[in-house]
Amino acid sequence: MTLEIDSTGSFKEMLYRELPSVSDVLLDPRVQRLKQTYSHGAVVNAVRAAIEEIRCEITRIEHSQSTLISRIAQLPETIESQLLSAPRYSLRRVVNATGVVLHTNLGRSPLSRAALDHIAEIAGGYSNLEFDLERGERGKRDQHIESLLLTLLSDREERETLAETYGATIVNNCAAATYLALHALAKGKEVIVSRGELVEIGGGFRIPEILKESGALLREIGTTNRTKVADYENALSANTGLILRVHQSNFSMDGFVERPSLEDLTALGKRANIPVFEDHGTGLLHALEPYGIQGEHTWAESLSAGCDLVAVSGDKLLGGPQCGILTGNRQLVDQIRRDSLFRTFRVDKLGYAALEATLMQYVDGSFDGIPILKTIATHGEEIEKRCRSIADVLDSSRLSVKIKEVESLVGGGTTPKARLKSVAISLRHADLTAQELLGALRRLDPPVIARIEEDHVLLDLRTVEPSYDKFLAETINVLSSSQVTAGRNVLG
Ligand SMILES: *Cc1c(COP(=O)(O)O)cnc(C)c1O
Repeated sequence: MTLEIDSTGSFKEMLYRELPSVSDVLLDPRVQRLKQTYSHGAVVNAVRAAIEEIRCEITRIEHSQSTLISRIAQLPETIESQLLSAPRYSLRRVVNATGVVLHTNLGRSPLSRAALDHIAEIAGGYSNLEFDLERGERGKRDQHIESLLLTLLSDREERETLAETYGATIVNNCAAATYLALHALAKGKEVIVSRGELVEIGGGFRIPEILKESGALLREIGTTNRTKVADYENALSANTGLILRVHQSNFSMDGFVERPSLEDLTALGKRANIPVFEDHGTGLLHALEPYGIQGEHTWAESLSAGCDLVAVSGDKLLGGPQCGILTGNRQLVDQIRRDSLFRTFRVDKLGYAALEATLMQYVDGSFDGIPILKTIATHGEEIEKRCRSIADVLDSSRLSVKIKEVESLVGGGTTPKARLKSVAISLRHADLTAQELLGALRRLDPPVIARIEEDHVLLDLRTVEPSYDKFLAETINVLSSSQVTAGRNVLG
């Protein structure tokens, strides 16, 4: 009996000695290749776990020498299947090859390097988020953005006088900013809005419904296509709380249309002593005319036209984090801050850090550092060059590859008519339908999001960071190889 245990023990010892080390397994070229898809840390962990699993099998006497050797030979496959089934992030980086610069489903504007660094610095430790370092007492979150915004939104001459009368605050998004402004300033009062501006912004955010939810009373005037200053004037009453102007950011109307200029509207507001609130949305700071986009008025223009309060999105044309920014008359901003709901829309330190850094870049004039402005400003020729160098190395045995002129969109509910001349790689696969090829691109790591036009898959490189060009060339070649079968995960 004793002898038997002893001999099993030494047999096991012998098998344990067959186990490779973690570093040996990592040197296997098949394991090396996994590092193209998975992080080094994840591969090392999977190797460790796979060796440990075999060690347990030896302990449970599940192996003879020969089964152990074949088990060890299959380690790379075991490791790969372990990696495939390991928990991984659901929220992942993707390659945006749609050509839509501000794609709401793809997270709208990427943040600048400066914003990312500032987030890491602030979020990784304690900060003076709500602490006044000068006085050593409680401060306001908005102290970090208020004076930057004043600098960006006013002229040098205006600045001193404005410093006394102007305020800014931020909430979670522009929808929240609009809702909160209506709730704080016009609950139980009438809000005058043109019928042409009773719009849906997207995602079910409809101006009439938001107004109702805020407790304000909708006083609609004019018609869908024409509204005049006189219509506003005639609607004024003792119970008027606000005049609301909604920027037609996501649609356009042509033909027999008329609406008053912002200046005319604010002049009426001043005469009647009724604040004019603009839901501006886009948050455009840096005029887009140099890039061929006309007719989009800036945030500063809204304030200099005399709007008492303007709400904008942080992650549209401003190129910052998701947030809603309210700027304007300080008394109105303070009234909003005092609203019982204000706290429920509070932005965290990550948002303040990202917004402060983004605004600082505008103050410094480093527009090139703001990813979406850079993306919008990129010339078609430059995009074409990149398309050609990718197309040149693509294996065309099963793929037909062409270069095609296309139009990119700014998107995100902004500049509905603007088109940016761009160039795309147009793909057609010998064995896959366009839908299947689109799906195969989506299953890459990182996933590539493209679009279909006339049965071809188009990769518009305007919205693809150039650092992904090499990845695109390599992975499209994998797709083009004959192992691809319809609907199958190309890497699995
Ligand atoms: C986009 C937009 C909104 C909504 O902004 P979010 O930040 O997405 O909430 C509101 N109003 C206008 C005019 C917009 O363009």
